[in-house]
Amino acid sequence: MNDASRKVAIIGGGLTGLSAAFYIRKFYKEKGFKPEIVILEQDKVLGGKIETLHRDGFVIEKGPDSFLARKTAMIDLAQELEIDHELVSTNPEAKKTYIVNQGRLHPMPSGLVLGVPTELGPFLKTGLVSWRGKFRALMDLVRAPRQSSEDESLGAFIERRLGAEVLSNMTEPLLAGIYAGDTYRLSLQSTFPQFGEMERKYGSLIKGMMTGKKPVETHTGTKKSAFLTFRQGLQSLVHALVHDLDDVEQRLETKVSSIEDHRGSDQAGYTVALASGERIIVDDVVVTTPAFAAADLLRPLVDVSELDAINYVSVANVVLAFERQDVSGSFDGSGFLVPRKEGRNITACTWTGVKWLHTSPEDKMLLRCYVGRFGDEEKVSYPDADLIELVRKDLRELMNITAEPLFVEITRLPKSMPQYPVHHLQHIAEFRDRLERELPGIYATGAAFDGVGLPDCIRQAKELAEQMASKLAV
Ligand code: FAD
Repeated sequence: MNDASRKVAIIGGGLTGLSAAFYIRKFYKEKGFKPEIVILEQDKVLGGKIETLHRDGFVIEKGPDSFLARKTAMIDLAQELEIDHELVSTNPEAKKTYIVNQGRLHPMPSGLVLGVPTELGPFLKTGLVSWRGKFRALMDLVRAPRQSSEDESLGAFIERRLGAEVLSNMTEPLLAGIYAGDTYRLSLQSTFPQFGEMERKYGSLIKGMMTGKKPVETHTGTKKSAFLTFRQGLQSLVHALVHDLDDVEQRLETKVSSIEDHRGSDQAGYTVALASGERIIVDDVVVTTPAFAAADLLRPLVDVSELDAINYVSVANVVLAFERQDVSGSFDGSGFLVPRKEGRNITACTWTGVKWLHTSPEDKMLLRCYVGRFGDEEKVSYPDADLIELVRKDLRELMNITAEPLFVEITRLPKSMPQYPVHHLQHIAEFRDRLERELPGIYATGAAFDGVGLPDCIRQAKELAEQMASKLAV
């Protein structure tokens, strides 16, 4: 082992920060360096948005609830931590998803992939779109493609290819739901870059999606499922990381208030100043906070206009537990999505007890309703009783559920969903170039940058750790 040790401060102990610590330690050690890592987290616990609650036999996710299996960074990490045996898939019987149209639940036509029809028969039969809307969508098969690869908004792209009706009734609730966003403000390249590539390659989005449709590959041992989670909840991953990182200093309730640059003086590196007044001298700083917090820390040192351009949307989720016998309906699927135009209080409802069988006792039912999206965030901060009433009103009207829940768990996540603006990728590349030029040794990564999904956060942390390790002089 090289005697030279490098001290690295990781600001933020969410999944990105924890994964960064894991992979920096791993890659530095592989290069013969001794990393001295400190994780600085302002909260009382590590994990950031990830939080699982165990209550009365239910497994309740207060933040994210699962992850995309085809993005393998999560599975790789679970294997490294030896917790991959804990992975569970969605209930194979709960394949159907519904979309609300004019106050009624309609099954999503089969073959709808990311909101794009890939099987014409079911698409032509769906009650979600008028004949006019269907005809307009099929124009995609013959409309000339745009050749330019310049970024545009996701909404403008889908409207151009499939028409406004398919966008508002089918594609928007599915895609914008992931970001709680407005499709006309989200960058195509940063959210669904494959769409633009398909248009250029196949001349048509539908043709491209039909050709590219592959069976879902997942890790061995689990049934084929697009999404996975952990039997005891996503927090298992956080616990495993925290346990594995027992040789890494993990400081909770430790808010970083500023970063100071010493280069040019006789001291090397940077000072990380804590809200308590304490100061820590380090060689490298990895900022993994949301963009607005990263901007506040870096603003005195570098131009952060690209970070300032990333808006965040506030959301809440309201989880309701019921006696199974008290809720009518067949629950023959995983839940339903609510398009913006329906003007409802909830944006989606997951029939969690059916979709994820491990989450609820057999004689109970767990429903998870989502509130808040771009332009409709006010209700997120309503008092508990008012918020519950709004959610129950929608469940009454859409699903005829009138029973008293056994309990309700509300989680508010203010400013939690980053909205990647058009040209985001280019802006972030410019920002990172400037950071490298003006503040070598300071890095910024996480959900604000290159993907909000949990596997995206791990991948970004791993890529950064590789990049940092490659700079070490052996
Ligand atoms: P965070 O989890 O936000 O962590 C950043 C940390 O930095 C926080 O712990 C914060 O306290 C800390 N911090 C901030 N400022 C400071 C400071 N000055 N000093 C010290 N610490 C600081 N993704 C999926 O893949 N699947 C899902 O099902 C899914 N569902 C979601 C549902 C919701 C409601 C939300 C909000 C997100 C969801 N996501 C989902 C996205 C995913 O959860 C996030 O993108 C991911 O957890 C972000 O991790 P992170 O570490 O980058 O950021």
